[in-house]
Amino acid sequence: MIKKPREKSVRLLTLEAAMRRVPLEHPQYKQIEKEHARLHYGFVGEKALDYYLTFLPNKNSQLLHGLRIEDPLNRFFQMDTLLITPAYCLILDSKYISGTLEFDETTNQLIRHRGEEKEKFGDPLSQVERQRYQLSLWLDKNNFPPLPIASQIVLTHSNATLTKATPSLMKKVTFHTNLPNKLQTIDNFKYPPLLDKSNFRKIAKVLIKKHTPDEFSLLKYYGIPYHELKKGVVCPGCAYLPMLQKQGNWICRNCGLYSKTAHIENLMDYKLLVGNMITNRIIRDFLLLPSPSVANYLLNSLELPVQGTNKGRKYLLTQFKL
Ligand SMILES: [Zn+2]
Repeated sequence: MIKKPREKSVRLLTLEAAMRRVPLEHPQYKQIEKEHARLHYGFVGEKALDYYLTFLPNKNSQLLHGLRIEDPLNRFFQMDTLLITPAYCLILDSKYISGTLEFDETTNQLIRHRGEEKEKFGDPLSQVERQRYQLSLWLDKNNFPPLPIASQIVLTHSNATLTKATPSLMKKVTFHTNLPNKLQTIDNFKYPPLLDKSNFRKIAKVLIKKHTPDEFSLLKYYGIPYHELKKGVVCPGCAYLPMLQKQGNWICRNCGLYSKTAHIENLMDYKLLVGNMITNRIIRDFLLLPSPSVANYLLNSLELPVQGTNKGRKYLLTQFKL
């Protein structure tokens, strides 16, 4: 049973907003594009797991995706997928990387070989070990029994091959197509159940409650001042900017699309890139609205919480979602 669905991280959503708002010719655009691609394909890889996760051998399983929690020493850790049964936990870490891959078991590094060239992809074996340790600390701190924690690195790209696949490595790493067999092998250990019905329900509830989404101040990170962003409403159909405002409709001059709601997702760009507070003047500037009364009309239609009155009125985007 999926207890926490897979969603794009705030970091990925922010990078998507930046791809729309940072001009192509900006010196930081290439860096943003690279980081966006890394997270985008990471997400594609995680989603590639989902089909194989429908083959769960233990029907009494809870799945939590993209969980980010704090260990007792205030260190956050994030797991692509956490599977919980009454008898054990399993952490899955997906790697969406194509090509000939080697896990160096001495240095723990993941390396891609291209002819003579070597490209490093971090240290997923140590990373998942760390997650196991931090989860065990978390269980203890939150008064849950010491469930055994298994882990698997799952290679999710269909064009990935492994070189030097030793038996000891294949205990820790698998291809996504083989995940059902791996799940079965782990379940066959027949660990004794440590969680009773009420604790089994409670553990997912507490984990979801403690989930803390990552925060990412992209403009600060890349040193981009607000005024360098592209302004206006981006067309949801063809990404052309800016759309024209006519009698409550947004009209795209490029593809002819009409929309009554295009400003809403564009306001999300503002929230992700700039912040949780907006005024009449700011929304006019960011969405290139023709007048204060149009801005007023849009802001009132969104029914946002407000602070202050008249000219000093501030609208809060804290709870604003698509
Ligand atoms: Zn368009």
